[in-house]
Amino acid sequence: MPREIALEWLAKNETRIIAISDKIWELAEVGLQEHESSRLLAEETKKAGFKVDLGVAGMPTAFVGSYGSGKPVIGVLAEYDALPGVSQKAQPTREPLKKGAPGHGCGHNLFGAGSLAAAMAIREAVQRRSLKATVKLFGCPAEETLVGKVFMARDGLFDDVDAALSWHPSSYNSAWMSSSNALNSVKFNFHGLTSHAAADPERGKSALDAVELMNVGSNYLREHISEKARIHYVIPHGGGEPNVVPDYAQVWYYVRAPKRNEVARIYNRVVNIAKGACLMTDTTMDLEFLVGCHEMLPNKALSEIMIRNMREIGPPKWSEEEHRFAKKLAESMTLEDRRDSILKSRMPKKEEKVEKYLDDTIGEPEDEKEVMGGSTDVGDVSWIAPTANLVTATCVLGMPGHSWQEAATSGMSIGHKGMLLAAKTLALTGIDLITEPEELKRIGEEFQTKTKGFKYKTPIPPGQKPPLEQLAH
Ligand SMILES: [Zn+2]
Repeated sequence: MPREIALEWLAKNETRIIAISDKIWELAEVGLQEHESSRLLAEETKKAGFKVDLGVAGMPTAFVGSYGSGKPVIGVLAEYDALPGVSQKAQPTREPLKKGAPGHGCGHNLFGAGSLAAAMAIREAVQRRSLKATVKLFGCPAEETLVGKVFMARDGLFDDVDAALSWHPSSYNSAWMSSSNALNSVKFNFHGLTSHAAADPERGKSALDAVELMNVGSNYLREHISEKARIHYVIPHGGGEPNVVPDYAQVWYYVRAPKRNEVARIYNRVVNIAKGACLMTDTTMDLEFLVGCHEMLPNKALSEIMIRNMREIGPPKWSEEEHRFAKKLAESMTLEDRRDSILKSRMPKKEEKVEKYLDDTIGEPEDEKEVMGGSTDVGDVSWIAPTANLVTATCVLGMPGHSWQEAATSGMSIGHKGMLLAAKTLALTGIDLITEPEELKRIGEEFQTKTKGFKYKTPIPPGQKPPLEQLAH
């Protein structure tokens, strides 16, 4: 049976998958610089008999691996970028692997290796049972900066996909049914004239004044946007010394809202505010649009198949040693903070989890109508093909995301167990969709209903290239 073939293959290759995950964990390369991580994953994909294109959509670290032919096309999404500053050894107390270096504080090393494993296991079944299907592994770089999938989507790479299977490392086992915020990321560059700030101020035009006035305007705008929308900014360049009127200043904005069209509306007003700041200060402005993304549209029917398969496999069985590790790691937070963070989360049956360190259950999603504060570029894929997002426990309950604590568990057996559960679940789900056309049809129908009248339009302005330099760390 194809399902057994996939599970057998995964059991046989466990050590190898863990080694790949650990290698990416050690490399810990940030978005668009995942050169070695993407090469490693692309090479493994190639060795498994997939046809691999590395360097797609204008990004040297993006790839697509394809095996088989014809319909259905099952897509598996993989991510592998790290986060700056969270380098951490695989131990429960804070100590960086490399001081100040990036680390896998979002567990994308597990995400990359787990998805690779799922795609290879589906391939094994397709090949040995001569099933008619195409399996595609999408190597998606720079998720943290919301770049990879948006540019891959713009280039039409997901257009022929019938179902996209995704997952994310988490502290619990379930699926995300919530949506996420759509977003625009843009840098405003203001240009003025330098002069001596005390001796010759009347001859200067301050680019920093323009930034400050723009921020004042945007802060007033907050009263006139929906409650769920978010505007945040940083000032990467604000001038050199106080005695020189700055002729250059830059402010970097994120505009977020639960719906893409609301982001577009708020964004237009923010651009007008920037123009107003130019008029007030007699400066000029150019903007660098970095990236934009859509909100997530989860496919319920597909999520249900994932949960069903995860139940069949069962939750991770944690060892005494893993419990000890988790308990020690949890001491990095006060009991109260950890409790609050669990209760604030979107995980199912959270009241039952406040006393626990590691999740040993599988929960039905309880977040269907919710919108998570953050954004993900999986959102863009989800408007092109039916998409579902599994989550498995790879870290300790209540720990913050994007943290050294998560980097620690992503490099040891707690992370590995969650990753293998995800790989098995995704593999079984992919095979079900290939062998049970009725299921695939149901998923497709839900997608058609939810996207009726909608045509995916990239948020990226025409001709724009991926921000390879702008986002260099
Ligand atoms: Zn992530």
